[in-house]
Amino acid sequence: MTANVDSAPKEAVDLKALLAGATKLASYEGMGLTSKQMVKVELYRAPAGSGITFYLEGPAGFLEIPANASSVVNTMRNVVLGSGKTRLCIVEHFLCAASLWGLDDLFVIVDGAEMPLADGSAQLWIDLFQKSGIERRQVPCDITLPHLIEVSKGDRSILAIPDEKFSVTYLMDWKHPKIGQRWQSWNANQDITEICEARTFGMLKDHQMLGLVDDVVSLTEDDFTMPLRHPDEPVRHKLLDLIGDLALVGVNPLRIKARFISIKAGHELDVEMSKKLSLLLATAAAPGLATGV
Ligand SMILES: [Zn+2]
Repeated sequence: MTANVDSAPKEAVDLKALLAGATKLASYEGMGLTSKQMVKVELYRAPAGSGITFYLEGPAGFLEIPANASSVVNTMRNVVLGSGKTRLCIVEHFLCAASLWGLDDLFVIVDGAEMPLADGSAQLWIDLFQKSGIERRQVPCDITLPHLIEVSKGDRSILAIPDEKFSVTYLMDWKHPKIGQRWQSWNANQDITEICEARTFGMLKDHQMLGLVDDVVSLTEDDFTMPLRHPDEPVRHKLLDLIGDLALVGVNPLRIKARFISIKAGHELDVEMSKKLSLLLATAAAPGLATGV
């Protein structure tokens, strides 16, 4: 688990000045499922190359929280970004949807402490992009990985292997009669729905504690509490989380020419991988690391 520490607070941002002239792309209001408060999310187009940045109201005004691995303050249940004492939980599903839709540069204004969860998939965001008339952009796969990168902890690991194109593979191994050992892969030539509509899941007792029972897929001792969209929906959701977490590299992960193989890993290792990749990109002069732009 990433330590839940307060990151150094940044200066408050003049939101009015920031958004002056920026094109508003979409807005969404939905229930934050852990806070049980309505959360409003507004998306604005940001300058090319600036990446995705969240803005949240803190005690001293709006704080800027860039969607990158250095903003992560906790990875226990979901990915939590922070600045000072201000927190934004469950960013990964939104970041996956934005990556798959080719939305690389956004100002995201959020008036709560978590992104709305809806049914626990990324489909809510895809539906919003479509409904708002945001055109899907083909993401060029143009960042070469100079060498293999590995992160691991115990029997969990993620490999990033240099390849011709971006792809993700996840191996799941749960001692549960309805899951067991399963693996699934996805690459950018496949339909994004295969990933986006996969809902989060967890043990019923944990969801009861969080008051999530009626909203998301839960696991009892021997079954799921509702029908699945695919027999392997849980492993597809793991791929969704992985892509969303890799967006914390600070560039669209679909640009990276690598085969990501995750063996039983979760947010903690995903974020560690993003940190390593982010460091590589920061030293773009590293031999073999070529960006197309
Ligand atoms: Zn998830």
